[in-house]
Amino acid sequence: MNLDYNEGLSLFSEVVNMVNDEATGSQEVVVCSPFIHLHSLVQLAKGSAKVAIGAQNAHQAESGAYTGEISARQVKSTGANYVILGHSERRQYFGETNALLAKKTDTALANDLKPIFCIGETLQEREANVHFDIIKTQLVEGVFHLDAAAFSKLVLAYEPVWAIGTGVTATSDQAQEIHAFIRKEIAAKYDQGVADATTILYGGSCNPKNANELFACADIDGGLIGGASLKSRDFTDIVKAFN
Ligand code: 13P
Repeated sequence: MNLDYNEGLSLFSEVVNMVNDEATGSQEVVVCSPFIHLHSLVQLAKGSAKVAIGAQNAHQAESGAYTGEISARQVKSTGANYVILGHSERRQYFGETNALLAKKTDTALANDLKPIFCIGETLQEREANVHFDIIKTQLVEGVFHLDAAAFSKLVLAYEPVWAIGTGVTATSDQAQEIHAFIRKEIAAKYDQGVADATTILYGGSCNPKNANELFACADIDGGLIGGASLKSRDFTDIVKAFN
């Protein structure tokens, strides 16, 4: 919930230009914006093969009387192709549960949106040494009801809640350990091929200084960037850190 309509468009124009000019590797960039920006961002991204657009949430119902909510179909009709689901702020401030997120995932997929499904433990959960159990439960209850073909359309994002917006980044060892665990759970549920093909992003105080080391980890396939995405230079430098 940062930036007004014009500020958002102007930041995005800078980002598209910088990414197009500077990111010459295999990077794929998805910008997930507030709903009010979606349609305009899709238009601005049309000239860019690298940049796709997504929303930050969508409702679980197909349509209906849910005043103030936005459906997956409405998001898709703007031209956006992705939606973030289960961000920890949605879980924490809006009471989104794994069961609700399973429904949101189904509705997003039914409307041809690619979910970027977020999981991650709180500080108390890590200190109580239950972080692996929490991550596994989030997977089992949130997305493991899908068959392999549907699951393959997801992007997963590991975002330890204690690292989001705090300036405290998970060390690359801590992040890699959880990413490897997630991939192992996917292989156990589906198969190794599905696990290897799943994109698992890391999010939480990712910045141009730490991106290289994080992205070099075997099971970290990219980043979900919060605060640093509000600065076009920092965001583009993070994109360039991925190769
Ligand atoms: P920060 O990069 O600001 O820690 O936020 C991460 C995040 O929540 C991205 O969705």
